[in-house]
Amino acid sequence: MNNTSHIYLPGRRKILITAPHAEEHKRDGQPKFAEPKTGLIARYLSQKFNCHALVTNGVQEHDPNYDITCPLTLGDCPFKDALSTVIEASNIRLVIDLHQLHPSRPFDFVIGTNDGKSVVGHDFLVETLRSRLLQLADRVLVNPPFGYSARHAATITRYVAEGHDIPAMQLEINSQLTDEWENVARVLARFVIDVAPMNRKGRL
Ligand SMILES: [Zn+2]
Repeated sequence: MNNTSHIYLPGRRKILITAPHAEEHKRDGQPKFAEPKTGLIARYLSQKFNCHALVTNGVQEHDPNYDITCPLTLGDCPFKDALSTVIEASNIRLVIDLHQLHPSRPFDFVIGTNDGKSVVGHDFLVETLRSRLLQLADRVLVNPPFGYSARHAATITRYVAEGHDIPAMQLEINSQLTDEWENVARVLARFVIDVAPMNRKGRL
């Protein structure tokens, strides 16, 4: 499972945290900056709260959350291939895909669910996550019309929801907040604990 392009950390909960931009990557061939705190948060949630984590490792030739060469069907994208393998091997019931926003953006968090479709009927997940994020910051958006909403055809969120029929949410975190990334990780840990009973009862 682990190769040069990504690292998988197994967990006991049926929740997978992904960080496809943790390292520098190319989007349509153009280099993009890394979002390193997403990798730290994913590792924290795996090591301390028993989630599974899938994190990129080293410079990526593709953008697994954007390039159409990483499409909705299995193809030339090692990260998405690994994602599918983990989901099926560990009976994953929820995926949270982490990203960092440029610090100039006038909001703290954005939850993207492709206008509600990617939670495949589990609408409570969005409100539960939003409530937890509001404990840390005021400006929490859900599916704003101008972007960051996982609508693009090749997002991790759509790949999971449409390819595996399980809920997935994209979470964009303002990079100003990630200076204290452990606070963000702790808030996400509370969300993980919030949904644990539903997970145990098979409702998620
Ligand atoms: Zn990103």
